[in-house]
Amino acid sequence: MPTPAAHTAHAVHADHAVRAARTAESLTADLPLTALEDLYRDLHRHPELSLHEHRTAAALAGRLRAAGFETADGIGGTGVAGILRNGDGPTVLLRADLDALPVKEETGLPYASEVDGVMHACGHDLHVTWLAGAAGALAAGRDAWSGTLFLVGQPAEESGQGAARMIADGLYERFARPDVLLGQHAVPGPAGLYPHVPGLIMAAATEIDIVVHGRGGHGSRPETTVDPVVTAAYLVTRLQTVVSREIAAGEAAVLTVGRIEAGTRHNIIPAEARIALSLRTRSEQVRERMIGAIRRIAHGECLAAGCPREPEVTVGATFPATVNDAGTDRLIAAVHGELFGAGTVFDPGPAMGSEDFPELAAGSIPYAYWFVTTTPPDVWEQAPGADLAAKLDAVPSNHSPHFAPDPSTIAPGVRTLVSGALAVLSPA
Ligand code: ZN
Ligand code: ZN
Repeated sequence: MPTPAAHTAHAVHADHAVRAARTAESLTADLPLTALEDLYRDLHRHPELSLHEHRTAAALAGRLRAAGFETADGIGGTGVAGILRNGDGPTVLLRADLDALPVKEETGLPYASEVDGVMHACGHDLHVTWLAGAAGALAAGRDAWSGTLFLVGQPAEESGQGAARMIADGLYERFARPDVLLGQHAVPGPAGLYPHVPGLIMAAATEIDIVVHGRGGHGSRPETTVDPVVTAAYLVTRLQTVVSREIAAGEAAVLTVGRIEAGTRHNIIPAEARIALSLRTRSEQVRERMIGAIRRIAHGECLAAGCPREPEVTVGATFPATVNDAGTDRLIAAVHGELFGAGTVFDPGPAMGSEDFPELAAGSIPYAYWFVTTTPPDVWEQAPGADLAAKLDAVPSNHSPHFAPDPSTIAPGVRTLVSGALAVLSPA
């Protein structure tokens, strides 16, 4: 039973959500959809890989300046920031990622990639379009809110570097430290749904490289060598015990050795072997525990084999777990429910995918990150399967050469951002 106080808090929350949704409706009633669709198609035709997003960054910065934002570029490499100070109130950061993937597009779209082997296969072109649309609508409607809008075009999400690079480059010292961060991602699913999770929404991912140093020699005289191939084989096998023997059954974790490399010929024992693996985890404690176990097992196997040198264990690209601030996410989910209908917002539970968006939290800033489904209605209808889960497996997903979000999701994605920002900014 809710206490009277909780009841009142809930009512205030609901009023606030209704007001933010109504204001968002009026600020986005006249979106320049033709211009936004042109921007989307232009970005889709010209994808750029992580840390090479010069053209994309310039396109976004130009839109932000035209809307009245003060902008800066080259942050952390190719990052863009735009700021609009509009009186007292919270500072809200809205983020879009800029980069494309080394994927050869097979959509057959009239606006398909013109860069061979590079494609916006994760929908970041749509994210930039959404952000540009939200910038225009919120700037034009600045009489309706007060506070500071801080828009970020972040490079290198796919490689997990961009957010951390922007923070290291003084993003918050140069502009402002935000009070709340908001982000959203295009995902498969019948266009018109807004999945929200008031807590853990995306897993952490960690890439690890191990080099085993042996002593090379002739294949006929193993007694004069330390064979790194055999040690690497034991290591790969033993690593399978990390999840099965060291992590509690109730935890979700994946350890995959995706690459193993050693040697040149049949009769040469090589001097080293290399192993590359990736981890997916849902808590920092489990991640730390797995990294510790991997280091221990690598050192143990090399010690057992008599390797002349200790192995090198390098923790590479890392994506932290994405854990929404429950209060912020519930508020924004309520606003989206108000805007699009309660049935369009639901909690799908955490995904095993990963994001570097949480790096922007710099340890303590609360954030909300949600999904926007973008599969075109006809593609969804024709997909085999009786229920949502079966159809989801059948339609093109992020990173697929066939991933093609419906341009009709441009307006809704602008509205989710505008209404989310209004939920946090002060009403005028
Ligand atoms: Zn991606
Ligand atoms: Zn992505």
